[in-house]
Amino acid sequence: MKTKLLILFGGKSAEHKVSMQTAKAVMNAVDLDLYEVHPVYIDAQGTWNKGKRLEGKVEDIKALEVHHETTSLSPFSLANEEESQVVFPLLHGPNGEDGTVQGLLELLNIPYVGNGVLASAAGMDKLAMKAIFQQAGLQQVKYEGFIRKDWEVEKPEVIDRIERNLGYPCFVKPANLGSSVGINKASDRHALEAAIEEALQFDRKIIVEQGVVAREIEIGVIGNDETSCSVVGEIVPKTEFYDYKSKYEDGDTALIIPAEIDSAIYEQVKEMATTAYKALDCSGLARMDFFLTKNNELIINEVNTMPGFTPVSMFPLLWKHSGVDYPSLINRLVELALERHEEKM
Ligand code: ADP
Ligand code: MG
Ligand code: MG
Repeated sequence: MKTKLLILFGGKSAEHKVSMQTAKAVMNAVDLDLYEVHPVYIDAQGTWNKGKRLEGKVEDIKALEVHHETTSLSPFSLANEEESQVVFPLLHGPNGEDGTVQGLLELLNIPYVGNGVLASAAGMDKLAMKAIFQQAGLQQVKYEGFIRKDWEVEKPEVIDRIERNLGYPCFVKPANLGSSVGINKASDRHALEAAIEEALQFDRKIIVEQGVVAREIEIGVIGNDETSCSVVGEIVPKTEFYDYKSKYEDGDTALIIPAEIDSAIYEQVKEMATTAYKALDCSGLARMDFFLTKNNELIINEVNTMPGFTPVSMFPLLWKHSGVDYPSLINRLVELALERHEEKM
C-alpha cells in the first residue's frame, strides 16, 4: 500500500511565499509510485484547503493555491483519515515551524516529518533558543531581549542597555521569525530606533545582537536519537548581510559546498551542531548556522527546524554533497517521522 503523504504548505506567516516554492519542489520530487500525495494549502488567513490528489508534476505555484469553500477543512478532520498517512509540514515561521502545527498533529496522533513541539517552539523563538544554547555551553554573540511594552515604557533604558552591552553595529530582529524578515543592521542610535520600530511590526518580542564580522557557515543534521551531520557549506551574500532579498529574490548569494575550512574546524562544527540538536531535543532535521571569525572562533547563530528545502536550498544541497539526493532525503525524513511515532507508542 502506498503511504499517504499530506503536504502542508503556505501558512499564516511572513514566509508564506517561500513555503509555496518549497511545496512545489517537494511535490515534483516525490516518487508517486511510493506515495499518494495530497496537498493541503493553508492560505494567508490560516484557512486550510485540501487540494486534489497529485497526479503529475506541478508546473505553476498558482495551481497550488486552492480556495474553494467546499474543500476548506478543519485541521482536526485530518484525524479521520486512514492509518498509513504521514504529514509533511512544509511551513516556515510562526504558525507552522513553531510547534503549533506540531502540537495539533500530536493531539491527532498522526506521524509527521520534522521536529516536535519543543524543538520547533524553542527554535522559533530566538531568545528561548539562545537561553538553551547558553545552558548547553555553546558560544554565542552577546544579545539583549525585550518586549514591546518595555520599549513603550522605558525606551531610554532599553537603548542605554543595548549601547552599553552591545554597541554598534548591532542586529535587530523580531524574536519569532525567519528568512531575515524584519531584520536590520543598525550602526547608530537613529538606525537602532528605526530598526526596533520595524521589528515590532512583526513581533512583540525583540532581540538585538552584537554584530560580528565573520564567515557564515551552515551544517545539516538529520536523525532522531541518533544523528548524522552533512558536510559544511558557506554562504557568501553579495548584499551587506544575508537579507530576505539575497535569500529569495536576486539569487546572487554564493553557496560554497563544501566550505573551505580546516578539518579541525569541521569537527568542531559537527560537535557543536550535535550538542545544539540534543539541547533542543530536535528530531527529523535541522540546519545549524554558525559564524566563523577571522581568529577561527566558532559562534552558533541559530537553528532552523524547517530549513529552506527547495532543491537549490542549502540544506538539500549539503545532503546532496554528502551522498543523499533530494528524493532520498525526503524518503529518509518520512522514515524518521514513522520511527519517532512508533517509539512514542
Ligand atoms: P533568520 O532566522 O531570519 O535567518 P538570522 O539570525 O540568521 O535570522 O539573521 C539573518 C542574517 O543576518 C544572517 O544570516 C547574517 O547574514 C546576518 N546576521 C544576523 N545576526 C548577525 C550578527 N549578530 N552579526 C552579524 N551578522 C548577523
Ligand atoms: Mg532562521
Ligand atoms: Mg538565518
